[in-house]
Amino acid sequence: MPAAGDTPIDLTVTVPVYNELDNLPPLYERIRAALEALSRQWELVLVDDGSNDGSAARLDEIAAADARVTVVHLSRNYGQTAALMAGLDHARGAIIVPMDGDLQNDPTDIGRLLAKLDEGYDVVSGWRKDRQDHPIKRNFTSRVANWLISQVSGVHLHDYGCSLKAYRREMLAGVKLYGEMHRFVPIYARWNGARVTEIPVLHHPRLHGESKYGLERVLKVVLDLIVVKFLFRYASKPIYLFGGFGLLCLFASFGAGLWALWLKFFEDTSLIQTPLPLLSVFLAGSGIISILMGLLAEMLNRTYHESQQKPVYRIGSVVRRGGD
Ligand code: UDP
Ligand code: MG
Repeated sequence: MPAAGDTPIDLTVTVPVYNELDNLPPLYERIRAALEALSRQWELVLVDDGSNDGSAARLDEIAAADARVTVVHLSRNYGQTAALMAGLDHARGAIIVPMDGDLQNDPTDIGRLLAKLDEGYDVVSGWRKDRQDHPIKRNFTSRVANWLISQVSGVHLHDYGCSLKAYRREMLAGVKLYGEMHRFVPIYARWNGARVTEIPVLHHPRLHGESKYGLERVLKVVLDLIVVKFLFRYASKPIYLFGGFGLLCLFASFGAGLWALWLKFFEDTSLIQTPLPLLSVFLAGSGIISILMGLLAEMLNRTYHESQQKPVYRIGSVVRRGGD
């Protein structure tokens, strides 16, 4: 992220925009009105995610008229997560607030998010308590998904999918987003020691344009959740997962083999009368392959950390007596 300019910027609001032409003028006006009421130095970073409906030109007009607005045009449509990442990379504020560009989030909530940060939190997540989307297709599936994410991550939020959140800048250092992962940033922050909370925020129905997503997003979110959990728990020790599973297979293989021999010698059951020998061989093969994959993952891990000088820890702060 670039360093701040002459006057330090307190707050960056960043919005990914993909084909939101009719939403842009009211969006800008409402954000401007909400932020001017806050008496903080602010900037607005609008990311055009390869729009082809004229949004790009409209964004440029907004930036030309207001020096506090930066527009970042991506070369094509990369998706909401990548667009958000671009917004974060260009944000200079001490506090960063992402939100959607379709007027479903309400900029007047930003002040309340900031007030919550001031209470000593590092991340405040919006919760669309009264969500204005399709009851089954969106609201129900998102309830299930949020429950699942809370269980797996151990971070309990009602609404991971809500784009409107507020972060202290430090919490985003080193964050790289892939797939649908923008919703997991609070989890990442929590696991790195951040104080995370949530507050209810307003939510409006979409008036212009259409949602870019359907039900398939739920599957992507679940897969991403597995990746996040795996990377956090085992990224620095993949052999524990692969090797653990491998050893389990080898034990089971041994057990199945013994059982088959027992049946043969003491119960008069021939080896081809039960699936046990086959099972034993299959489990042995799986176990050995899994352990070998674990070793491979350990080599990859070393390549990752050592070739890029990436430490295996993150520092909160270092305290040393002056002059020592
Ligand atoms: N968006 C984007 N790139 C995409 C899809 C969406 O930048 O490929 C933006 C979109 O313009 C909006 C936000 O991401 O500002 C959320 O998208 P949408 O409203 O379609 O999602 P929903 O609210 O239905 O979850
Ligand atoms: Mg929306």
